[in-house]
Amino acid sequence: MPDQLRALDVPVFERLTIIGLGLIGSSIARAARRANAAKIIVAADISPDVCARVRELGLADEVSDDLAAAVSHSDCVILCVPVGACGAVAAAMAPGLKPGAIVSDVGSVKGAVVAAVQPHLPAGVHFIPAHPIAGTEHSGPDAGFATLFKNRWLILTPVENGDSAATEKLAAFWKAFGSNVEVMDAAHHDLVLAVTSHLPHLIAYNIVGTAADLEEVTQSEVIKFSASGFRDFTRIAASDPTMWRDVFLNNRDAVLEMLGRFNEDLSALQRAIRWGDGDALFNLFSRTRAIRRSIIEQGQDTAAPDFGRHAADEKK
Ligand code: NAP
Repeated sequence: MPDQLRALDVPVFERLTIIGLGLIGSSIARAARRANAAKIIVAADISPDVCARVRELGLADEVSDDLAAAVSHSDCVILCVPVGACGAVAAAMAPGLKPGAIVSDVGSVKGAVVAAVQPHLPAGVHFIPAHPIAGTEHSGPDAGFATLFKNRWLILTPVENGDSAATEKLAAFWKAFGSNVEVMDAAHHDLVLAVTSHLPHLIAYNIVGTAADLEEVTQSEVIKFSASGFRDFTRIAASDPTMWRDVFLNNRDAVLEMLGRFNEDLSALQRAIRWGDGDALFNLFSRTRAIRRSIIEQGQDTAAPDFGRHAADEKK
């Protein structure tokens, strides 16, 4: 079965602490258990409701709202909280970290997380920032699933003079979930993700916002006829508001740079439409269609019509 994870004979980590059991944190807990990637899983979250739900779902061996206690004795700690909360979480947990522990995160922005987390970590702890290029528009512990990271990229952005054995170990952990691991520096990550993820989300938030304003004029026709391209934007624009607020506040420079480029290209399209330059439109649309084909060829999406939605429905 392509959706199954193969369990490791020997866990990568003895004791893993996951802080923040939302979509990503709870998916890591599920995947780590399924793949036998950690012997003991400790879950920590500041939200009593999330802790209670994690206990109900049986996602971890131990559940705590005391961050320093939750990380003590763990050989790996992964922060799965919104980017803007990483610094405060690092400060709160730091007194409990054991020497030699690996500290990582899953934040969608890397430069700002490194700047916020690193100053709080004691010497002898290995900090290896990470970002799984996988997710959905849903949040919370019920939204996670074990195969979220399968066949998806996991980007590691090791800090300067980091311990390469620790980096290898963390890479082995993510590979157990079926992830493909890539290493790059934090600034490059933030630039790449600004164009592949952050800008598309901003465009989706903007277009759905514009349409929502128009809706008053057109009396719900926007919703009624949403089966065209608009509907796909609404899925992206339903993504977690806290997470995405933090992404834009913390990757400001790269996003503004990409937004400038985007605005220039949009102006060129506007001019082509105004002057009836069909060749310019046709050439661009042919290039973009080829990009879609290569995403499918590289296994990053399905070729089924409508993004495979109907095919998935029929299987239910
Ligand atoms: P989520 O479902 O909202 O989960 C975040 C969890 O962290 C929630 O349980 C939240 O509790 C908890 N939390 C918030 N502040 C905290 C704090 N100060 N201390 C401890 N726990 C805290 O979010 P997510 O989608 O899993 O995102 C988590 C991280 O993954 C973010 O940094 C995001 O950039 C990154 N990421 C997300 C995606 C995606 O598609 N969603 C993909 C890749 C990476 P409350 O619910 O009580 O606030």
